[in-house]
Amino acid sequence: MGNRTIYGPVPSRRLGYSLGIDPIPYKTCSFDCIYCQLGRTTKKTIRRREYIPTSKVIGELEEILARESTIDYITFSGSGEPTLNSQIGRMIRAVKYITSIPVAVITNGSLLTLRSVREELRIADLVIPSLDAGREQTFQKINRPHARIGLKNVIDGLIQFRDVYPGRIHLEIMLVRDVNDTEEEIDRIKELTEDLKPDLIELNTVYRPPQEIAVRPVSKRRLTQIRQKLGAKCKIVAPFRRRGRAYREDINELIREILKRRPATIEDIAKTSGLNPSMVIKYIDQLIKLGEIRIVRFRATRYYAID
Ligand code: SF4
Repeated sequence: MGNRTIYGPVPSRRLGYSLGIDPIPYKTCSFDCIYCQLGRTTKKTIRRREYIPTSKVIGELEEILARESTIDYITFSGSGEPTLNSQIGRMIRAVKYITSIPVAVITNGSLLTLRSVREELRIADLVIPSLDAGREQTFQKINRPHARIGLKNVIDGLIQFRDVYPGRIHLEIMLVRDVNDTEEEIDRIKELTEDLKPDLIELNTVYRPPQEIAVRPVSKRRLTQIRQKLGAKCKIVAPFRRRGRAYREDINELIREILKRRPATIEDIAKTSGLNPSMVIKYIDQLIKLGEIRIVRFRATRYYAID
């Protein structure tokens, strides 16, 4: 069964009920962030092409929209960097043609240096780029970018995008303890945010178990200090609290069934179930919180298991 390119809707901390569009094959990305929940990047690239056909994405979307009513956002994100799909602009236009639900794009921002990408994202309602470092050294350490991407490219792209983009920009900063939470780093990030002029700054930390053992969350106290330093536009991304339907029990059951047979990675579960890896992560996260499954590490790979 091939993985679907549309997943959800899933409850999202930031976007309410978000229907995800994943226009990129698993772990095709221009970065290899140390905190990435999807694991190591298997294809690190800056080459844009139509990795997943627009017709497949839009066909699946139409099918889901016909039966789902609780969707707050349609969000391009998923298993890698969505702007690597050269047809993302066409996809956003097609989504806008078939529904009035707002469109968000979650991006690492590395390709905003390209005029074509800036143009393609212009009609999205919300763009959520990330910026995790104020200095090149930290950028290399936390985001492990493609060799042709430096922090300066990312910053220049973000500034140029702000100049042409009429919608909302929510800048996400993912904080990792002892990596990018020092005073010096935060001072530099603050200077940059003044140039980037986002509508909102979202502070995040590794709430979900990270892939790399050395990656640890920043304490609530430190998050609060950093929020105060970054000013009134900054908020800490809070856990999702909305009432009503959340996770689908049939999907929980499917994941339990797979794990009852043997421990599996996110990718294994996605392949066996046909679910999108990003959706699997959300459900795994919830099952861990419920104490139903546990993490097992074997030879630097993270597996999930059920007792
Ligand atoms: S940019 Fe996103 S998908 Fe790519 S490695 Fe970083 S967290 Fe993972």
